[in-house]
Order: sequence, then C-alpha cells, then structure tokens
Amino acid sequence: MNFDSQIETQNQQVFLPILEEKKVELFIKREDLIHPYISGNKFRKLKYNLEEAKKLKKKSLLTFGGAFSNHIVATAVAGEIAGFKTFAIIRGEELGLNLTKTLEENATLRKAHESGMKFHFVSREVYRQKASFGFIEKMKNKWGDFYLIPEGGTNIFGVQGCQEILTNEDKKFDFICCSVGTGGTISGLINASKKHQKIVGFPALKGNFLSEEIKKYTIKKNKWRLLKNYDFGGYAKNNEELIAFINSFKKETDILLDPVYTGKMLFGILDLVKNDSFEENSKILAIHTGGIQGIEGVNQKLKEKNKEIIQL
Ligand SMILES: *Cc1c(COP(=O)(O)O)cnc(C)c1O
Repeated sequence: MNFDSQIETQNQQVFLPILEEKKVELFIKREDLIHPYISGNKFRKLKYNLEEAKKLKKKSLLTFGGAFSNHIVATAVAGEIAGFKTFAIIRGEELGLNLTKTLEENATLRKAHESGMKFHFVSREVYRQKASFGFIEKMKNKWGDFYLIPEGGTNIFGVQGCQEILTNEDKKFDFICCSVGTGGTISGLINASKKHQKIVGFPALKGNFLSEEIKKYTIKKNKWRLLKNYDFGGYAKNNEELIAFINSFKKETDILLDPVYTGKMLFGILDLVKNDSFEENSKILAIHTGGIQGIEGVNQKLKEKNKEIIQL
C-alpha cells in the first residue's frame, strides 16, 4: 500500500433484469478492492491526512469511532504501514472493562489492536464531547502529542482525497451515487464532478446535520441530493429485507455489499430504478466505498437472533 500514489479503481457493469427492462445502465466503482482493511473511501480520506501529519512531523495519530468502525481499523492498519503510532477513542465504556474478552468477540477492534492501536473507551456522554478542547488536552496528557483525525476521517484533507475517486473517463455518467455517513465522500464527489452530472447520496443514518456538513466542503450548488428513505431505521440498523437483498445481489452479480453503507445504497438505487426515477438511457455510477470488514460483526449479532446472515 502506497499512500503517495494515484489509485484508479475499475468500474464494473452490473447486469440485472430490472436494469434491462428499464433501459438503465449501472456500473459499480470497485473502491472496495483497494485494500481489505483500508477500505475504499477510508483510504481516500486518510491519504492527505497522513501526508499532513508527516509534514507536521507528528509521530502518532488519534481518532474516534464506534466498536465496529471501518474508519478505526483503516486508521490502525494505515498508521502501521505509514509508520505512525495510533490511538483511538472508542464509544462504549463497557468494552474496556475486559479488553481480552472484547478483542475475542470483536474482529474490528482485534485487527486494530494487532496493528498496534491503543484504545481509550468512553461512555456515550463523553463520546459526544470528544472534540472539545478539554477532552483533547486530557488525551494529550495521557498519550503525548498527536495528529488528530476527525470521526470518519472527514476534514478538508479527507475531502481532497475523495476528489480522486472520479477519473476523466467517468464523465460519461449522468448520476454518481454514494452512501453517506459523515459527508466527506459525497463532498469530494461533488467537487470532482462535471457540470452535467448529478450526485445522489444515500444517508446510512438519521442526521439532519448532513446537508450543512456537505455545504461546508463544497462550492458547487444544486448538483446533489440526499435521499433519506433508505436508512433502514438508522446507523448500523438493518432488517431481513436488507440482508436478503445483499445475499441475492451477491448471487446475481458476485459483488459483496456491506450492510451498514453500500447495501442500503444499492437497495435504494434499484428501488429508484423500479419506480422509474431514472429516465431511460441513464448511466449510473455507484461508488462501492468498501466496509466489508464490518460484515463479521453484523453476522455475529444476526446469528445470536437466529436470523439469516450475510453469505461471504
Ligand atoms: C465510512 C463509510 C462511508 C461513509 O463515508 P462518509 O465520507 O463518512 O460520508 C460509506 N461507506 C463505507 C463503506 C464507509 O466505511
């Protein structure tokens, strides 16, 4: 993995009866294949953050996330490769009570731990104030100086990296679709898009702050929309319909989707196709932002409830 290089990923066309019937073309940009842990957009968002950390001569990185966060494990593995110590503030105080047990049960944190990441577990209340001056000072007293990467890797450097997702060849597409968490990825896509292109975001969580976040990082107006009907109840929530969809999509296309982000987006895109929301001859590019590492944690919970799991 080289953080200085310009990575271009392949667009894979998807063939499904509904696409043929509605005369719509759908391609998936396989950002998920960049790396098994530094998945898709997390590579994009870390690239210029790591460059900035190096410029500032920082030796360590600190970031934040939930217990199954793609961003946490990506930062741990990327930090190890690029030669940084890594620290993480993890939501969920109870996880710190017995670290051995937590690591046994949680593949995301286990991989991050194996990559040298040190954790500080906090309650949901403290987590909400994680970006406050007082809290950051406390962490500096604990761990020494560090370069701070915000939650999800979204800041101006993260957005700059996401602008590199689209290439010149992608100008043939009318619509660019992506899943939205903190808004960094869609901001980069908006900035890099061509005049005739529309960007459609599928929020994976309930959050009315998202549009404001995106406006902070973008200059082009009226080119993008957030479709809020496909969050399946909120962040990391899913239901049997979504899991069944992910499994059938895998069978039909051989592309594995994650249940937190990309599964919801593709479900949404195909629902819009069914409802004739895309005109005939539309060319759609959906960004597969990765997240495959998170499937194990979701499957564990589904198994506990005796539900259908995601087939790998
Ligand atoms: C983090 C993540 C997102 C959300 O990206 P944002 O830039 O935070 O909006 C989407 N898809 C996957 C797979 C992710 O891991």
